[in-house]
Amino acid sequence: MSLICSPIAVESAAEIPLAVERAARARVLGARMVEWRCDGLASREGADAADAIARLVRESPLPSIVTVRSSEEGGACSLAESERLALLARVAKVADAPRMIDVEHAALCADLVRALFAAALATREGDGEGGGGGAAPKLIASSHDFTGRPNDLLRRVAAMQDDPLVSVVKLAWMARSIRDNLEAFDLLASRSKPMIAILMGEFGLMSRVLAPKFGGFLTFASDAEGTGSAPGQPSVRELRDLYRFGAIGPATRVFGVVGWPVAHSRSPAFHNARFAEHGYDGVYLPLPVPSEWEHFKASIGALVDHEKLDFAGASVTIPHKEHLVRFVRERGGGIDADAAWLGAANTLVVHPHGTPDGQRIFATNTDMPAAVEVLSAALATRGRALRGSRIAVIGAGGVGRAIAGGLALAGATVVVFNRDHARAQFVADALSGREVVLADGRAHRTKVVAGAARGEDALACGCFHAFVNCTPVGMEGGPDPLGSPLPDEVHLDDSVVVMDTVYAPRETPLIREARARGAVTVDGEAMFLRQAALQSALFLARW
Ligand code: NAP
Repeated sequence: MSLICSPIAVESAAEIPLAVERAARARVLGARMVEWRCDGLASREGADAADAIARLVRESPLPSIVTVRSSEEGGACSLAESERLALLARVAKVADAPRMIDVEHAALCADLVRALFAAALATREGDGEGGGGGAAPKLIASSHDFTGRPNDLLRRVAAMQDDPLVSVVKLAWMARSIRDNLEAFDLLASRSKPMIAILMGEFGLMSRVLAPKFGGFLTFASDAEGTGSAPGQPSVRELRDLYRFGAIGPATRVFGVVGWPVAHSRSPAFHNARFAEHGYDGVYLPLPVPSEWEHFKASIGALVDHEKLDFAGASVTIPHKEHLVRFVRERGGGIDADAAWLGAANTLVVHPHGTPDGQRIFATNTDMPAAVEVLSAALATRGRALRGSRIAVIGAGGVGRAIAGGLALAGATVVVFNRDHARAQFVADALSGREVVLADGRAHRTKVVAGAARGEDALACGCFHAFVNCTPVGMEGGPDPLGSPLPDEVHLDDSVVVMDTVYAPRETPLIREARARGAVTVDGEAMFLRQAALQSALFLARW
């Protein structure tokens, strides 16, 4: 079982009571160790530093790791190197010694330093239990690289594992892609000693959350949001409540949301809660993958191919929905007919051993049925069916295309408006003329047309039964958060449905205005929840 360890920086002896309180809170949240980052305290307290650290350890509500990090490895200790190491060796000898002391692998390579720690640990062992402080502390040998994967990573790992002074090997490097996590998992899987393998930065979250799956000794998590000691570190609360860290084990299946950017996606909260509800052994993570096709192909390919990861599926969002179709096609997987027609998919399902027809991966698009369902339910409140309705879709990106396609397949006439008119025309040409059989058994040809290049007058024609915003206009943090995609001249009353795909905020300027004018409204949350529920059913049903 992997532990959660909260790093807490202590700048001076005066801060000890506050630091101990923070550790007590971290313990309540679920931390089982604390790393006392004593860089500041060691620099300020001079000759009293060892006593101050001993007090910290004595009063600590959790088993302690003591770290005094050198600036070469990302720390803030201003002591000369020999003084810093002498202080750590003293901390190893005192009666209130910590459970573990972190010493950089680079420092431990020097014979003098090795001799210093060997002597300190032997003294403690000689004291035995009667020395007043229990067993000798164990040494964590650590190696950090804040720029990327060290070239000599494997040599470092071998040296640390072979070192008899070292009890725990700690590796931390800056991830440059989510693929880097896989090497950390491979190192953990082949370890010969307890090991911590953590990747830093936004690409490294996987290594932190999945430590229990691969037998990592511990993972670091901050006691409060935004107080982490390294880039990309989650909080204890996130690990416990969002990712259900305590439930992750070797057989846990891994899912995620693939996009760029993806940090603020609501999908991890949604899907992890569904896994918990269903008692399903899965975890769902944000998976940032830069925009280009090559990044998508390499990253998702590596996750799918990694034998021990149990990568079982993903939600795929901006800007990768078309990449997903291409990826699954290139790999000979299955693509749902509607997603193939759209040329965009938002859901990847990975079968561990392939389906009976030999396909390992499968892609579909849940945006399309979700939008159709929520819009047709809203129209039904006014006695209208989708078939025969005339609907204005504003925006011709991935979502606009999926919604226009879905509505056209259901028998509506769709007019696509876009500020780049050529793109609207392209979507209309691609989606028009497909022969389908409607639910009532009647044959139908999809009808999608491009709205006028300057769409204001056409939107205000009074001939639409519904308007759907598929642009980021009105979105918090978007290009026009206070704007509305509908011009003022558009007549809205209680016979018209207005749907926004933007879900942050839930009440966009468009929804507010439409409500004020009596229209039936559908907010972006309704579509988000429906498409996520359809995905979740696929993720949960595949075994
Ligand atoms: P996309 O592929 O980037 O397309 C964006 C569309 O919006 C394009 O048609 C673009 O026009 C247009 N646009 C961008 N900025 C604009 C502006 N300032 N004024 C007018 N038009 C503008 O994005 P997408 O994947 O289609 O996503 C669109 C929106 O859907 C997102 O912002 C998100 O809020 C929402 N969404 C909702 C859900 C849900 O479940 N509710 C799911 C996914 C997305 P050009 O072609 O001229 O650039």
